[in-house]
Amino acid sequence: MDRSAEVIVVGGGIIGCSIAAELARSGTQVLLLERYEIASAASGRNHGLIFYPQTEVTGPLYRASHEMYRRLRDVTEIDLGLGDTPAGFIILISHESEWDAAETEARASALGGVEIERLDSAQLAEAEPNVAEGHLGGWFIGDGYVLDPAALTLATALEADALGAAIKTHTDVKQIMTRKGRTSGVATDKGIFEADVVVDAAGPWASKLARSAGLDLALQGARGWLLLTQAVAPLARHLLESSGWHLMAGEPGPLAVTVGGFAAEDEPRAPDVGLLIQQNSTGHVLLGGSRISSTRDDPEGFEVTREIARRAVGAIPALSEVPLTAVWSGVRPMSSDGYPLIGWMPEIEGLFVASGHGGQGMILGGGTGRLSAQLIRGEDPFVDPTAFDPGRFGLKRA
Ligand SMILES: Cc1cc2nc3c(=O)[nH]c(=O)nc-3n(C[C@H](O)[C@H](O)[C@H](O)COP(=O)(O)OP(=O)(O)OC[C@H]3O[C@@H](n4cnc5c(N)ncnc54)[C@H](O)[C@@H]3O)c2cc1C
Repeated sequence: MDRSAEVIVVGGGIIGCSIAAELARSGTQVLLLERYEIASAASGRNHGLIFYPQTEVTGPLYRASHEMYRRLRDVTEIDLGLGDTPAGFIILISHESEWDAAETEARASALGGVEIERLDSAQLAEAEPNVAEGHLGGWFIGDGYVLDPAALTLATALEADALGAAIKTHTDVKQIMTRKGRTSGVATDKGIFEADVVVDAAGPWASKLARSAGLDLALQGARGWLLLTQAVAPLARHLLESSGWHLMAGEPGPLAVTVGGFAAEDEPRAPDVGLLIQQNSTGHVLLGGSRISSTRDDPEGFEVTREIARRAVGAIPALSEVPLTAVWSGVRPMSSDGYPLIGWMPEIEGLFVASGHGGQGMILGGGTGRLSAQLIRGEDPFVDPTAFDPGRFGLKRA
């Protein structure tokens, strides 16, 4: 294995793999380093939903990603599970107080040309016969393409490999090395690798990695839990979610744990719990809806899985008897303003960051790869990157 490259990308999630593929496509010599395996973190452990991000700040990244995933689906032998039609969301309303948040979310989706409709209780019962009686209605949002996120990330990595990128897994980057104010490579448990450009795409661990070069990134982790059932006959025709669950554009997610809160044993902070029921075409039902401030590797907040199960049975009573086969969690990389960090870091020449995609890393991953490759190669970007500038929160030295 060559120990030098033009660009080293750290992180084998959807963001790092997309950047490696786009750089390799445009002829850049790239080496991707991943400490475990491709898609071993959030990129292989999420819902795999692709939908309009309800803002034109990230809308172009979403459209580019969706187009790239469709193209990849048509050339890869891996089944990405990506269909041509959206599953459609229905936001369930069980209390009067939930109508406003649901309408706000639906109208934000409509800005992207998505079909929406307010449903009364009879229309909801007709659309979703297994939903518990007593719901007041819902909002239909004609969006939500489902894919297999681990398959997508793996197919992206294999495409990068086929285009000439070198990929090295089980290689833990311990330090971003700098010389005279610019990056010179990385130090890993497998030795030193040299490059003039280092891309920090380490997901929620991107801040830990940046600290090794003396810089602080405004990022924190938000753990989410998922429960998976055995395949069963159709119980939900749409993606069913609780009102107010999806973060709106610009919303940052859970607050950071403070030292005082930690001292008072208020850690993890009260989790943010909602509900998302997703029955895939295979019949398996995926249940989720939690965000917990994450500060450590041991998975915190396991108790929310029981609350998610309670809420799911409350929404669809027939789920009560369905066998549960797996429960797992992943950590989303959250920025302070809800938008990703994509661009050059101030102060250290050659250090590029791409992280902080929150709950939208699959939605924005392909487009992030294209934008990052353009910025790294000094080409005109296809989208204005100002809102993603990693220096926008002010530079803090670690
Ligand atoms: C429960 C849940 C549901 C979600 N649902 C959706 C959804 O439906 N749609 C959507 O768009 N998004 C969803 N997301 C968010 C999405 O999963 C993330 O935004 C996305 O996976 C982030 O990708 P990433 O490449 O930045 O990070 P990651 O997938 O975390 O990848 C980072 C990689 O860097 C590696 N790494 C870290 N440090 C080092 C180091 N020092 N050396 C080498 N390698 C290192 C890690 O091992 C990891 O593999 C969900 C997330 C969760 C948790």
